Amino acid sequence: MTSSPQIADPHADLPALRVAIRTWLRDHEAELQPYRHEIVGDIPQMYTHVRPLQRMLCEAGWTRLGWPVEVGGLGGSAVMRAELMEEFAAAGYAFPDLLATIEIMGPMLVKYAPELAAQHLPAAIAGDEVWCQGFSEPEAGSDLGGLRCKAVPTDGPNGPGFVLSGQKMWSSYGSISKRCCVLARTNDNGHRGLSMLWVDLDSPGVTMVPTMCETHRDDVSELFFDDVFVPLDRLVGPEGAGWEVVMYLLQYERGAYAWKRQAEMHTHLQEVLHQADPVAAAAHTTAIGEAYLAIFALRSQAGPTLGLLDSGAALGPGISVDKLLLGVAEQTITDTARNVLWPALELDDTEAAERWRRRWSYTRITTIYGGAAEVQRDLVAERLLGLPRGK
Ligand SMILES: Cc1cc2nc3c(=O)[nH]c(=O)nc-3n(C[C@H](O)[C@H](O)[C@H](O)COP(=O)(O)OP(=O)(O)OC[C@H]3O[C@@H](n4cnc5c(N)ncnc54)[C@H](O)[C@@H]3O)c2cc1C
Repeated sequence: MTSSPQIADPHADLPALRVAIRTWLRDHEAELQPYRHEIVGDIPQMYTHVRPLQRMLCEAGWTRLGWPVEVGGLGGSAVMRAELMEEFAAAGYAFPDLLATIEIMGPMLVKYAPELAAQHLPAAIAGDEVWCQGFSEPEAGSDLGGLRCKAVPTDGPNGPGFVLSGQKMWSSYGSISKRCCVLARTNDNGHRGLSMLWVDLDSPGVTMVPTMCETHRDDVSELFFDDVFVPLDRLVGPEGAGWEVVMYLLQYERGAYAWKRQAEMHTHLQEVLHQADPVAAAAHTTAIGEAYLAIFALRSQAGPTLGLLDSGAALGPGISVDKLLLGVAEQTITDTARNVLWPALELDDTEAAERWRRRWSYTRITTIYGGAAEVQRDLVAERLLGLPRGK
């Protein structure tokens, strides 16, 4: 892939940006052909596949838009990157999911550890490193405050820092990640005893064990920390502020990620119609209509959320609505695809069928990761609608 001169303009208004992105996509159509779909491979193969694309987008400046200049961005609004995802999907390309994970962790680093953001964000955007999240543990998922992973303050021969020990699980893209934001207990003071650490996964004492998922690939990994030294300057936010930091991050996981997915879902629904036998499609018009409405509902919620996040607003429990709508849309689309494209989707050996099977499997867990749907519904019921607490 040839290198692309930087052409993204952080001062452009959104209509001008849209035109510029469309022109660039048209001019680079030949190079972008391999990215028409997500590849059907394992996680390392996926990473190898998307790296040149991430570099190309970075060199053109598109994925640096909206990040502050101080951390390697071009400045402007984060909504500009949302526009990029939208145009990318509308042109029929698969936007790298690894870039979407930066949308979740990057804002946290920029706000709570700008020096770390300046050191590591440029490499992540360019595709030279991958990050993961280490929050959930075998006995702490929905009840995150009950986590046991410990980071004991130390000031030994390596200097000030923490000695990290414990286990994390379900870390998305853990098997290819270079760094992980780990939520750990630094003292016994309940939620105030949690701190966020930025951990290099090649540190002595870290063991990563991939978990094979229903998608037939290691989407997630377990991480074991055996007396891992983490320097003090890897603290994200003040010591003891981990709960605030993780709640800030989860706004992006539940909200900003939904925007990328809705953009792709429009393309996926088009794919269903394109691949379907016209008779089968005609028999499922109601389901197809419902799928479209589910995406539209998500889009109507996620668009304003992006603007609010960009303005620095704290979204509170309202963000659970985005997460719930994301789960509904993802599962409605893939269930519709499964019915409309039956039996090919279930039985064929083609890449298209395999891709749909993987999409269907992966969307089963949209109602789990980033906060289980049952818990999100409780938050909406109690904190938005003011209903009495359930038993
Ligand atoms: C594919 C995938 C990717 C993930 N990626 C990451 C990641 O990158 N980093 C990370 O840290 N974690 C990740 N997770 C973990 C995810 O955040 C947790 O699985 C999730 O928060 C649920 O926690 P749990 O699995 O411990 O289930 P539990 O909390 O044990 O929940 C089990 C069931 O009980 C229900 N339940 C629990 N509490 C309540 C309640 N108060 N009210 C009503 N129902 C309740 C839940 O809804 C669920 O149905 C991922 C998970 C998956 C499946």
